[in-house]
Amino acid sequence: MRAWHVTAPGPVTGRPLRLHADDQTPRPGPGELLLRVLACGVCRTDLHVTEGDLEPHRPGVTPGHEVVGEVAALGEGAGAAPGAGAAPPFKVGDRAGAAWLRSTDTTCQYCLRGAENLCPASTYTGWDADGGYAEYMTVPAAYAHRLPGGYSNEELAPLLCAGIIGYRALQRAELPAGGRLGIYGFGGSAHLAAQVALARGATVHVLTRGERARRLALELGAASAGDAADLPPEPLDAAILFAPVGDLVLPALRALDRGGTLSVAGIHLSDIPPLSYEQHLFQERQLRSVTANTRADAREFLGFAAGHKLAVTVHPYPLDAADQALRDLKAGAFDGAAVLVS
Ligand SMILES: [Zn+2]
Ligand SMILES: [Zn+2]
Repeated sequence: MRAWHVTAPGPVTGRPLRLHADDQTPRPGPGELLLRVLACGVCRTDLHVTEGDLEPHRPGVTPGHEVVGEVAALGEGAGAAPGAGAAPPFKVGDRAGAAWLRSTDTTCQYCLRGAENLCPASTYTGWDADGGYAEYMTVPAAYAHRLPGGYSNEELAPLLCAGIIGYRALQRAELPAGGRLGIYGFGGSAHLAAQVALARGATVHVLTRGERARRLALELGAASAGDAADLPPEPLDAAILFAPVGDLVLPALRALDRGGTLSVAGIHLSDIPPLSYEQHLFQERQLRSVTANTRADAREFLGFAAGHKLAVTVHPYPLDAADQALRDLKAGAFDGAAVLVS
């Protein structure tokens, strides 16, 4: 099979990734599914893995963790293992999704209290194990997702990371019913979270640099779209920071109403400047981080997507052009999400 490998982590303008044309098709281990990859989203985290910003966990790893596949084979016992969230077992020919969270120990204090996203023994698709920049990959059946109907394979792929993380960030922001939400930065994850909030009746204010992104925000139903450092037209009950820019924590906290919460969605954030307790935190405003996601988050979000058709902007690339897709992502050459198709 064809598969990309991170052979020399470094800038994507060099050649950190190599395409191998005749890899062995992987064999599913006990409890695993073999997926024939139908579509794989290109996430910013893949760029971090490829460029070495995330320390390599597996030499020559195949990136890709927004994987829509067809079950091609079952490992021993996988036919009896329930899917994520005790969904019915998968069988050959089913459509299945593989996301960033690949496994946890299920036994630590965090897993036991429903916070498996914090499990110190967790492993990740396309970082600890080979991911979806390939024709085939394996995924533990218990961490594979049932996918909603009404979407193409290309549209489903970005839901599996951008969508799920945006959803968790929205949950962490504890937006009250009918509340006022501020969204800072408006890329793939943000535009999906905005649609969830709007469908729930929120008033959404988008604060972002790009002119095209502001236009998209208004088209999707945002009440206002301004520059990232602007104050929104009204105080916010909650805000989500999607841009990886620590400087924006200050205006976002300042924009919160009493008791409001700012949730920071990124895996990376540049340093936050000093805060003023009075201006940024007093009146019980809160600042929260978001770390990966649980399978329950994924199940809730994919269930929501089944009932509400989300608009997903997709830019398809052939599998052979994965390196170009990553270069374009880094250069900000497109809105929405790049997706590799076999
Ligand atoms: Zn654990
Ligand atoms: Zn991702």
